[in-house]
Amino acid sequence: MLSLIRTIPDYPKPGIQFRDITPLLQDKQGFAAMLDALAAHCSLMQVDKVVAVEARGFIIGAALAARLGAGFVPVRKPGKLPAQTIKQSYSLEYGTDTLELHADAIQANERILLVDDLIATGGTALAAVALIRQLGGLVTQAAFIIDLPDLGGMQHLANAGVQGFALYQFE
Ligand code: IMP
Repeated sequence: MLSLIRTIPDYPKPGIQFRDITPLLQDKQGFAAMLDALAAHCSLMQVDKVVAVEARGFIIGAALAARLGAGFVPVRKPGKLPAQTIKQSYSLEYGTDTLELHADAIQANERILLVDDLIATGGTALAAVALIRQLGGLVTQAAFIIDLPDLGGMQHLANAGVQGFALYQFE
């Protein structure tokens, strides 16, 4: 499965090593094995809803939600969700970005699993956690395909009370 994740040098800008999961997604055995592995890790969790971040997170989050018998909630970039939203800004290497969540997407005390394809600094995941908690959702677990441990995102998540899990680590 690891061989189905490729590295694209200098994308989207010079110096960035982009970990590309599209070969994994398009491989029928690889895609199923990836979902099996994530679902196995989550099998003992009580999950009401999976929350996933645009755009690659949707692919894994929706499929995993179906496996877990949970609902699916999208977190999106500004202006993409049609109904009333709440917003959370977060820092990027240069500047800031904002994520949105439908204000009625999560009820108080629902148990939430956060999902994305990759965690780097953890800024995106922490912004999603803040949105979930603003609506009263309980989020203590997060699942990813890839962790970049050198960037510390898992530790930042742990500091916020969220235990993260990733199938693979890349330097
Ligand atoms: P963070 O906010 O620094 O943890 O970055 C994680 C977010 O950026 C996730 O939503 C990822 O989809 C995206 N991302 C960052 N680097 C990569 C990469 O190498 N491959 C795929 N997605 C990436």
